Amino acid sequence: MGLPIVAIVGRPNVGKSTLVNRLTGLTDAIVHDAPGVTRDRTYRPAFWEDREFLVVDTGGLVFDDDSEFLPHIRQQVMSALSEASLAILVVDGQTGPTPADREVAQWLRKNETPILLAVNKCESPEQGLTLSTQFWELGMGQPYPVSGIHGSGTGELLDEVITYLPPADDHEPDQETRVAIVGRPNVGKSSLLNAFVGSDRSIVSPISGTTRDSIDMVVTRNGNRYRLIDTAGIRKKKHVDYGPEFFGINRAFKAIRRADVVLLVVDVCDGVTEQDQKLAGRIAEEGRACVVVANKWDAIEKDNYTIYEVEQELMARLQFIDWAQIIFTSAKTGQRVQKIIDLVDMAVTQHQRRVSTSVINEVLEDAVSWHTPPTTRQGRQGKIYYGTQVSSQPPSIALFVNDPALFKDNYRRYIERQFRKSLGFIGTPLRFFWRGKR
Ligand code: GDP
Ligand code: GDP
Repeated sequence: MGLPIVAIVGRPNVGKSTLVNRLTGLTDAIVHDAPGVTRDRTYRPAFWEDREFLVVDTGGLVFDDDSEFLPHIRQQVMSALSEASLAILVVDGQTGPTPADREVAQWLRKNETPILLAVNKCESPEQGLTLSTQFWELGMGQPYPVSGIHGSGTGELLDEVITYLPPADDHEPDQETRVAIVGRPNVGKSSLLNAFVGSDRSIVSPISGTTRDSIDMVVTRNGNRYRLIDTAGIRKKKHVDYGPEFFGINRAFKAIRRADVVLLVVDVCDGVTEQDQKLAGRIAEEGRACVVVANKWDAIEKDNYTIYEVEQELMARLQFIDWAQIIFTSAKTGQRVQKIIDLVDMAVTQHQRRVSTSVINEVLEDAVSWHTPPTTRQGRQGKIYYGTQVSSQPPSIALFVNDPALFKDNYRRYIERQFRKSLGFIGTPLRFFWRGKR
């Protein structure tokens, strides 16, 4: 079910990490827990055309060194290869084939994983042709000249890469929505859970989660199934006296990772604390949809304006998730507890939403005509050629531009704001990939 994996191998210094940065569009995103992958490697999401995959840099493969780590390194690379759909062997075009390259190639040939040969540091096409032909001798098939630094040739390489990937899953919408309820201790998570499912216990069934002490619950509302993740973590043992410092943040992080939608519960009496902000940051980072539940609404004095004032106050401190909707509840009286699910549904819909390329380009044209991309002092101006949505959950949009370096943070934020203004996407984070010309 997970995304296909492309492993990058080769001896040190041939430019593997530079090439990985190029292939993954310089995003900093790191995938830790795609299903079926090992945790001690770094997987980075990438896409080409409409195919998504993960790129893993296996580290430098050395053979002429008899350090005690050598068997361990080879073991690591071997296991990376075993889970990969394809490996890219990277060599250095400027040095030509070296004995170490030959050894790596010979070793790789014993594996069943298909291998493409990338000849790096080929900055120009003419150079690429002459430099790369020397590598036929490695017996790895056609050498692909590329430049990790300039990006040349990587498009041709990626065209070939995607032909080796297994057919994409037809992203069938999940039958159930996975909901995590997270928040600091005492904000009212277990009270909310009880208020939400309490009246109708017959529809609650415990399902064992991934770890032995994590219990999921499945509830049905309006014909939809919701899996409430790790309710065991919510129903903590009441007799345990946790110190005021105690906060099971790792448990919350794990729940966030497994969820589609996160209910971030805050206590309206306390407002948004630093811990709440940490959780919000993680939700955004993991690309999860979110609804903010401002609980204990019964406990504060209010007039007609209070709800707007409190909303502003809370959301001002939740800048990482300023796209989320907020709902004011009382687990004590039950006020609006059942309405939370409506906001969950809306957030899920937005999280899964796909927008056509023509709509995206209308938004872009509009945005650019209001506010043209900046020009550098040398007179170079950023140009956005076009954009297209490359994936959902969360919606991710690739913007093809002349040079990503010409677009600084404030202009990138402006573009994101314009997308939100025109298309909403309430309740879900958005991702943008700024891709240069290849
Ligand atoms: P790794 O050890 O294989 O991950 O290699 P790095 O990505 O760290 O690169 C090793 C060296 O090669 C660095 O000095 C890079 O700047 C340089 N390098 C990487 N890609 C290219 C390229 O496409 N062209 C040139 N000329 N140098 C490159
Ligand atoms: P958890 O640690 O987040 O699971 O929080 P609990 O559900 O155990 O609630 C902590 C305390 O807040 C308990 O004393 C609850 O009775 C109280 N509490 C929870 N929700 C509400 C609410 O909506 N209003 C008021 N006034 N108290 C609440």
